[in-house]
Amino acid sequence: MQWIPLNDLSRSIHDQRELLTGAFARVVESSWVVMGPEHTAFEQELAEYLGAAHALGVASGTDALEIALRAVVDPARPVVVTAANAGGYTTTAARRGGFRLRYADVDEATMCLTPATVAPVLDGTVGAVVVTHLYGRAADVAGIRALCEPLGVPVVEDCAQAIGARTADGRVGSLSDVAAFSFYPTKNLGALGDGGAVVTSSAQIADRVRVLRQYGWTSKYRITQDGGRNSRLDEVQAAVLRARMPLLDEANATRRALVERYRASASERVRVLDAQGEGHVGHLAVVVVDDRDAFVAHLAERGIRSDVHYPVPDHRQPAFAAEHADVSLPVTEHLADRIVSLPCFPELAAEEIERVCDALAAF
Ligand SMILES: *Cc1c(COP(=O)(O)O)cnc(C)c1O
Repeated sequence: MQWIPLNDLSRSIHDQRELLTGAFARVVESSWVVMGPEHTAFEQELAEYLGAAHALGVASGTDALEIALRAVVDPARPVVVTAANAGGYTTTAARRGGFRLRYADVDEATMCLTPATVAPVLDGTVGAVVVTHLYGRAADVAGIRALCEPLGVPVVEDCAQAIGARTADGRVGSLSDVAAFSFYPTKNLGALGDGGAVVTSSAQIADRVRVLRQYGWTSKYRITQDGGRNSRLDEVQAAVLRARMPLLDEANATRRALVERYRASASERVRVLDAQGEGHVGHLAVVVVDDRDAFVAHLAERGIRSDVHYPVPDHRQPAFAAEHADVSLPVTEHLADRIVSLPCFPELAAEEIERVCDALAAF
């Protein structure tokens, strides 16, 4: 029996052979390798697609988060509030930026931060709240902004899993002060390597990001801002992303429909998180089951790969658990032991989807 993979990048890469080699050829012809015409065009096209004024290419999603935080956090308020169930990326970025982490619990139904979970941890030391649009779902940024704005606390969106998700107020990435995107190959819009972007509609924040991503330079060899780094999106990756961007909305719709098929098939013992409507882009198909070990074994018997996103909440990660020993996040901790991710990518074949649906129904 052929295993059904959680994800298989070779399928889209092979399907897109001509599109991708065309993108490489454009870079070879121009001979620009960094900060060239593909990069400039990608920044413009991404900003336009998202409905934001500025998009700035950087080397990864984690870099985008770190640079976005450095651009908006007042050093006198060094605490960054975020969720502990989103894979540790914001934690890594904030710690690298020299900030302190404070975790808020998440909503049981959506697994995202909400105004109700954020409110109890806000105070005068908080310099930013990072809202992750987890698994592809647009979180309630408007509600969290309404809470944060009167306190002068900027809101950062982590859009790494949710590019293209649309709300009544616009697409994710255009809803807050500044947003971070990742183009890691498994994301809904993936490069053939690493990449990321910082997105904002503030000219002032965009200027700061431009300086921070390039050594702290305001002009060549003049460092005017401390905390700068070298974080570039290569010209080849920008060309690949430009080639793939027109395919994004349709691929997102396919993912969304796939998650909804799983949801319609699942037995009562398995709760499939919904992916209804344009506010969800089906990045991951996540289920909640009480008896996770038995469920994973049941999938494996049927040749279905699964994984857990994510097994260890940030405040329990061995590297920094001691700093958060007194922190308790009941919903986050409860769900970390019960979540499982199913195969989810647009190139899954009909018979593979069928087999996953049958396994969900039979559990
Ligand atoms: C993938 C991911 C990131 C990090 O992106 P990289 O490009 O791998 O650094 C950040 N946040 C979330 C939610 C992610 O899924």
